Amino acid sequence: MLKIFTSLATRLLALNHTNWNPPDRNLSEVKYEYDYIVIGGGTAGLVLASLLAKANMNSRTLVIEGGPNAPLTTEIPFYLSGIQNSKYDWNYRTLPQNRSCQSFDYGACHIPLGKMIGGSTLLRSMVYNTGTKRDWNRWENLGNPNWNWKTVLPYFKNYVEKYPLEHL
Ligand SMILES: Cc1cc2nc3c(=O)[nH]c(=O)nc-3n(C[C@H](O)[C@H](O)[C@H](O)COP(=O)(O)OP(=O)(O)OC[C@H]3O[C@@H](n4cnc5c(N)ncnc54)[C@H](O)[C@@H]3O)c2cc1C
Repeated sequence: MLKIFTSLATRLLALNHTNWNPPDRNLSEVKYEYDYIVIGGGTAGLVLASLLAKANMNSRTLVIEGGPNAPLTTEIPFYLSGIQNSKYDWNYRTLPQNRSCQSFDYGACHIPLGKMIGGSTLLRSMVYNTGTKRDWNRWENLGNPNWNWKTVLPYFKNYVEKYPLEHL
């Protein structure tokens, strides 16, 4: 654990703030026509946009994200408190509850949701897990052909092999 934190701290210190995020673009650079427009630059949106762009190098893909660039602190595992409840969070609340959420103001729970380039993946705990075999197979049975454990498992394995912990 100490090794991971030391390695992360070293990486953070080595990061040059100017290249942490892509430079802000002038709105005049936005074209009138795109082949693909992806709304939301979160986990799924950015993967989708990157795959679309790679599939056809001549195509133009625009990602529209409602939040700002992510702060450097999103690199720190479990550092939730400084990011949630901030401008990087949509800050949704439940309706006031009678029994639950009593520790929150007006009995309304806070529901954090990422509002930045990178989305909710940047205000989470960096915990890695997957759904269970039964969850995935149930998903297919609910009417999603091929979204079962057998077909998704190679992707999970691929991910773990490509990004082993020591690369942190
Ligand atoms: C508090 C919290 C902790 C979590 N912890 C973990 C964890 O430890 N491990 C784990 O594996 N998963 C975790 N997750 C789940 C993980 O973050 C999500 O499953 C994943 O981010 C979902 O990806 P997504 O692309 O569907 O949505 P998001 O990543 O949320 O992306 C949606 C993007 O769309 C943008 N957007 C929304 N509306 C608009 C609009 N109208 N116009 C423009 N942009 C818009 C948002 O700003 C956001 O950037 C956590 C989630 C939360 C909320």
